[in-house]
Amino acid sequence: MSTSSTDVIVIGAGLAGLACANKVAEAGLRVTVLEQSSDEAYLCNSRYTGGLFHIAMDDMAGEPDWVRANLERTTRGTTDPALAEALTQNARRTLRWLSSLGVRFIKAGPDGLRRNALSPPGVRQTGLNWRGRSGDVMLRTLGDRLRERGGELRRGVTAQSLQMEGGRCTGVLARTASGDAVSLQARAVLIADGGFQANPELVGRYICRRPERLLQRNAGSGQGAGLRMAEAAGALLVGMDRFYGHLQHRRAMTEQDLWPYPVVDSLATAALVVDASARRFCDEGLGGVYVTNAVAQLDDPLSAVIVFDDAIWNGPGRDWLLPANPYLLSAGGHLVSADTLPELATRLNLDPAALQDTVARYNRLADGEAGAQADQPPRSTAPYKAWPVRQGPFHAVEICAGITYTMGGIATDAAGRVLDTQRQPIDGLFAAGACTGGLEGGGEAAGYSGGLSKSSVFGMLAGEAIAQRLKAA
Ligand SMILES: Cc1cc2nc3c(=O)[nH]c(=O)nc-3n(C[C@H](O)[C@H](O)[C@H](O)COP(=O)(O)OP(=O)(O)OC[C@H]3O[C@@H](n4cnc5c(N)ncnc54)[C@H](O)[C@@H]3O)c2cc1C
Repeated sequence: MSTSSTDVIVIGAGLAGLACANKVAEAGLRVTVLEQSSDEAYLCNSRYTGGLFHIAMDDMAGEPDWVRANLERTTRGTTDPALAEALTQNARRTLRWLSSLGVRFIKAGPDGLRRNALSPPGVRQTGLNWRGRSGDVMLRTLGDRLRERGGELRRGVTAQSLQMEGGRCTGVLARTASGDAVSLQARAVLIADGGFQANPELVGRYICRRPERLLQRNAGSGQGAGLRMAEAAGALLVGMDRFYGHLQHRRAMTEQDLWPYPVVDSLATAALVVDASARRFCDEGLGGVYVTNAVAQLDDPLSAVIVFDDAIWNGPGRDWLLPANPYLLSAGGHLVSADTLPELATRLNLDPAALQDTVARYNRLADGEAGAQADQPPRSTAPYKAWPVRQGPFHAVEICAGITYTMGGIATDAAGRVLDTQRQPIDGLFAAGACTGGLEGGGEAAGYSGGLSKSSVFGMLAGEAIAQRLKAA
């Protein structure tokens, strides 16, 4: 086994890992980033990203108290207050710092969600289009800056376990692509491996019964290695049952052109979603990320269908980035349509009477009729208005739940220090980005904070905390 030592080891060369490593290198410390993939353009969620830096789907660079209130509303008061404070207070500074490293941002649309988008923008075509855009350019830029500052990015090295001595993390045991074992000693280790979404065993344990029936709407690199290592070192895991993701056409399970865009959330949140018994099973008004989680938890996640009419198709169906109308059709997806609800049900292999009854009950909810909530899931009307489904032709989209990244994970404090089950920091061990929990995912709403904001802000803060600690020692 070869052995080496450095100041800091970072596990994973996504946005969180490279943000931390750049901060550490800026402080004049030695840092080595381990990346499991050998490819120069190693795949990870930061490379696939749509590139919209936001917090809770709105302007990340807004006034911090306003951003915080928006985050708390979205996560329904379940976000860890210290993490929420750190995220919102450091959001603008993080964007400025990334810009100073050469990461380019543009305004990609009129709303807060698109105010800080990576350039060249990512969400421009259906299907996967990352080469030379958005996250691809960002990772190359951050990698270049790291090397210029003397940092090292070692591709083809997979971290396997942490080295622990007397409760302190002292390094990493890893394996190279050619199978050689490597022992790397360090004064601090950061885990930034991107979550456990691509590990069916862990997704099956924590999130849903049928992980193989979810769409892997991600790069496949988040296998939960960091989670396992941290847990073995005594870390607390938090908020494990929710994920960030979107509703997609069911054929995206097999057809590359139909994911990660277009997503069909705006149809679901305007209308109703039914399962194989033609019954509603969740509150569609809580938003697309919530509905995606609810679909994943069905006995069969590949049984859900959105039911709507022409008014919805031509109204909310045209909303959001690369909307279903018209991009679903141009990307090769299709609607199931019929003049009447019983005919639509027959085409979908659903019970016609049950579908007709479900839509009638839903319409009473949409009309705000007193007592309509009885015997069916509730329907929030804000932020997503319930449109009645009344006028044929009627349409349906057969959907699947696309998992992008897991929202829960390793518990940390605001400086990225990994917490043990007594909520005490584990000496020398840090974590940042999509492998961490506590900020988002809590509560019924599965509130989404934002992947890029979480990974960049906490990667940067962990790098600062590590540098401060090592320099003081
Ligand atoms: C299609 C798509 C669109 C998205 N759009 C947006 C968006 O517009 N806005 C937004 O905020 N978020 C978006 N996200 C989410 C966001 O991109 C991610 O949450 C974020 O980039 C994650 O960064 P990370 O560094 O935590 O993880 P990652 O980028 O996944 O990086 C983790 C790295 O760790 C490596 N690794 C894993 N295990 C090991 C190991 N054992 N040893 C060594 N290396 C290892 C992996 O190979 C990977 O390179 C999107 C994601 C996807 C997939």
